[in-house]
Amino acid sequence: MNPAQTSTGGSASNPLLGAWTGPFGLPSFAAIKPEHFPPAFEQGLAHHRAEIEAIAANPAASDFDNTMAAMERSGALLTRVSNIFFVLAGANTNDALQEVERDISPLLARHDNEIYLNEALFRRIDDLHRRREGLGLTAEQKRVLERYHTHFVRAGAGLDADKKRRLAEIGERLASLGTAFGQNVLADEKAFALVLEEGDLGGLPDFLLDAARAAAEERGFPGKHVITLSRSSIEPFLQFSTRRDLREKAHHAWLKRGENGGASDNRGIVAEMVALRAERARLLGYASFADYRLADQMAKTPQAVRELLDNVWRRGRARAQAERDELQAIVREEGGNFALAPWDWRYYAEKLRQARYDLQESEIKPYFQLDRIIEAAFETARRLFGLTFAPVDVPLYHPDVRAWEVKDAAGKHVGLFLGDYFARESKHSGAWMTSLRDQEKLAGDVKPIIVNVMNFSKPEPGHAALLSFDDARTLFHEFGHGLHGLLSNVTYPLLSGTAVSSDFVELPSQLYEHWLEVPELLKKYARHCRTGEPMPQALLDRVLAARNFNQGCLTVEYTASAMVDIDLHSLPAAEGIDVTGFERDALARIGMPDEIVMRHRLPHFQHLFSAGGYAAAYYSYLWSEVLDADAFLAFEEKGNAFDPETARRLRDYIYSAGNLRDPAEAYKAFRGRLPTVDALLKKRGLDELAPAADA
Ligand SMILES: [Zn+2]
Repeated sequence: MNPAQTSTGGSASNPLLGAWTGPFGLPSFAAIKPEHFPPAFEQGLAHHRAEIEAIAANPAASDFDNTMAAMERSGALLTRVSNIFFVLAGANTNDALQEVERDISPLLARHDNEIYLNEALFRRIDDLHRRREGLGLTAEQKRVLERYHTHFVRAGAGLDADKKRRLAEIGERLASLGTAFGQNVLADEKAFALVLEEGDLGGLPDFLLDAARAAAEERGFPGKHVITLSRSSIEPFLQFSTRRDLREKAHHAWLKRGENGGASDNRGIVAEMVALRAERARLLGYASFADYRLADQMAKTPQAVRELLDNVWRRGRARAQAERDELQAIVREEGGNFALAPWDWRYYAEKLRQARYDLQESEIKPYFQLDRIIEAAFETARRLFGLTFAPVDVPLYHPDVRAWEVKDAAGKHVGLFLGDYFARESKHSGAWMTSLRDQEKLAGDVKPIIVNVMNFSKPEPGHAALLSFDDARTLFHEFGHGLHGLLSNVTYPLLSGTAVSSDFVELPSQLYEHWLEVPELLKKYARHCRTGEPMPQALLDRVLAARNFNQGCLTVEYTASAMVDIDLHSLPAAEGIDVTGFERDALARIGMPDEIVMRHRLPHFQHLFSAGGYAAAYYSYLWSEVLDADAFLAFEEKGNAFDPETARRLRDYIYSAGNLRDPAEAYKAFRGRLPTVDALLKKRGLDELAPAADA
């Protein structure tokens, strides 16, 4: 009750307003309540606004320090509050946080718009940009100036007042719609639970039964089994359940997320967002949103993206048709008198996989314990980059979250790594990397706090958490993003870690997946959860041989989603678009096989609409895969998956380099040349296939 404290506008009682004073500079999660966020955001926004105004109104002529560096130093409180808020909103949300999220998204969008459309500020940046060659800037400073200038121009700086006002409205509206979109998907996922009775469990392996029991407990059906729409629940169910009727029911619910009518239906939101994006692109002088979006990507144009997608689609579709014929033959052999349907594909593919490779998920899973796969990811980072990871016991936002202190080869602190691995109702689906604090050197030697979030099924108490091979790959993927944040070594926050174009940002993550398949690593870490025995060589051989099994289907699922995304965002105008009809027509045009559905249908395509980061950019994963396949080849050419010289260049030019360079230049600096698509086709096993003539 110190009056000096209460007079500071409540900062003493609002833990979000002060510096983070927990271990490693963590925030005090236990003290943070949802009601602390609105006033903290309000103060953060007000501070930042005042800072920006001061920069714009500075009577001194613009120089790098009083304009660019000043911009980079501004907004510290807002960044802190936002970082912690969005970590919680993604991984541990509740009704109160969701309400804050709905309120704050348009305010943050408006705030960004105010900065980017600040005329006086842009004049200072534009003036500096014109004089950039004569300013004696370092390469990094020049990059900062160029990136800011590009951001401002792409946001509409320099346009007339009417257009700017409209762009601002569009930005805010898109932010609100994006929040509603994500919350609607979560609502549909929460609303569905397939409650299984004793007679409904046919074919389900132990790991799925365990997870389904745990899910039933959480959903209020103790003693029963529940399948949810989390990918780690529904996918194995579709793969193993012998009950065709239940597979159809679950698949239907999965497919219809965001398309169920009522308050959570996302089709109106999608239509409005696509129309607004097209309008934004027009205002900025682009033919379509895709043209606008891709101009600042490594790909540069929709044509370049389509070329890659078409090439892979032809081969993937031909492979998928051959796979379908094989699966249909099994249906016939078993006396089934029906055409293979989407809810049958995974089930019969699993049968074929077992017949061909004698691989049973239940045989493999005991060898992929979560804790050992985490260790394998750590060891890879040690052998490539000299990093070590030591567990630390610190208070975090949920009891399931774990923390490790990361040090370099010299024992110097690199950062803190948080792993939040298990699915729960309060968490959005999917897997992602995010940060509580990004690396930079402008505000002192700031070390990163990086978070990996996944949705693995939580085991029952006393049981080891077991992963599928795909889960293990997801862990390596997100850990690769994590290293991009942890190893970041830049001065300016703008360029830190993963702040690169979205068709480049998946390179560090997808490349990292390759090390999971390095035999010596698998031999060491894929050990049986009960016996501790390493995976038998024969089983390991079969696991690796089966890597490209079902690759046609996977390629079609993904590539179709990427093609529909590009088509949708290439519309010059999209007012009143019929979302379901557009999707159907787009798929018909490319000859989508009836037995396969898009990996993400438009009404729940969170990459495109939830945050919008991948709108017209879902192709990025494939683009990055061209890069990662070609990059791993650099190690293979040396005959050593941990070749020190290649690892050093990888660290210097990719993992630690943030956005210091144009992505194509960064890649060339690492590899000595630009990538070709050959390694990707070989990796997917699509290189030996003659393209189908009718595609
Ligand atoms: Zn990723």
